[in-house]
Amino acid sequence: MRAFRYHRPADVAEAVAVLAAEPQAAYLGGGTNLVDLMKLGVQRPDVLVDVTRLPLDTVEGLPDGGLRIGATVRNSELAAHPVVRRDYPVLARALLAAASGQLRNMATTGGNLLQRTRCVYFQDTGKACNKREPGSGCAALHGQNRDLAVLDWSEQCVATHPSDLAVALAALDTVVEVHEADGPRDIPIADVYRSPGTHPERETTLARGALITAVRLPPLPAARRSTYLKVRDRASFAFAVGSVAAVLDLDGDVVRDVRLAYGAVAHRPWRAYRAEEELRGRPFSPELAARAADAELAEARPLRHNGFKLPLTRAITVRALTELASS
Ligand SMILES: Cc1cc2nc3c(=O)[nH]c(=O)nc-3n(C[C@H](O)[C@H](O)[C@H](O)COP(=O)(O)OP(=O)(O)OC[C@H]3O[C@@H](n4cnc5c(N)ncnc54)[C@H](O)[C@@H]3O)c2cc1C
Ligand code: SF4
Repeated sequence: MRAFRYHRPADVAEAVAVLAAEPQAAYLGGGTNLVDLMKLGVQRPDVLVDVTRLPLDTVEGLPDGGLRIGATVRNSELAAHPVVRRDYPVLARALLAAASGQLRNMATTGGNLLQRTRCVYFQDTGKACNKREPGSGCAALHGQNRDLAVLDWSEQCVATHPSDLAVALAALDTVVEVHEADGPRDIPIADVYRSPGTHPERETTLARGALITAVRLPPLPAARRSTYLKVRDRASFAFAVGSVAAVLDLDGDVVRDVRLAYGAVAHRPWRAYRAEEELRGRPFSPELAARAADAELAEARPLRHNGFKLPLTRAITVRALTELASS
């Protein structure tokens, strides 16, 4: 691992100023992703700006009934928060389905959202990877791509976004609060992540040096009936092979409102707008849920090893919604 400097800023403005002045600086949250990547030589920051002592560690109710979650709130704390458990169970479940207890105790909200892909070629500096080294090629396109994207990939990159939390936040129409060199900005989470296109090295629309300061959940009473289902290779301590975040609001048996987002299918958390359209205003049935998932996945392009993700995503959609409908 290369030598680096460690900086503990006094406030948000100082953190952002250091990133603006130092082109190779990076924010340090819990370090559970960044430090691993530094050990592997994938990321090589000169300066680590530790944001965990900034006053961004609270969860507070908002006057409109929503919730603001500070960027340094740890994943374990957030999963256990009584308001999150009561009003946004999808969020608590997504967090608890991720990583391990020890990792969740360290991992922060901001760091979780900006964690890097788990594509094995990205983590191996001996392999071609356009995301790590633009223009070098994509070893995964014709290599081991079982865990990678089926939607919205490009010839340059077929990676998926690994965060469970981001999938739940996508379903909840979360707003991400950032502080950039020219001041604070709110960005709907749907606009935060990019498709890989011809620049897979650019994963978000955030300016370089943008600090996530908080995420804001809108009030969504329907989210009390919400869940997160995750399929993984072992029962804990494993990334998703497929996942779904679901909110369901029924009027009798008719779907009044629904929110769905998928994990492990694309370069970004995938909000399933087409499936939602198919479901809204219709009497709920498992068959309808299956049709909705099929509508969402109609434009999927499975790779050589991951065609199974289509029936899997369909199955977890049906299961999550059917469970919610009968709860
Ligand atoms: C063995 C293992 C299993 C795991 N399993 C899962 C899983 O199943 N599901 C899942 O979702 N995750 C999983 N994870 C990933 C884990 O959730 C992330 O590593 C963690 O959430 C990252 O948070 P952090 O605070 O440690 O980020 P860090 O590692 O500190 O930072 C990650 C990135 O975010 C940037 N950053 C940090 N904070 C901010 C901020 N406030 N503003 C802007 N940029 C910032 C850093 O510069 C860095 O680029 C696993 C990790 C490991 C090691
Ligand atoms: S899929 Fe993306 S991250 Fe993986 S090797 Fe290809 S370019 Fe790199």
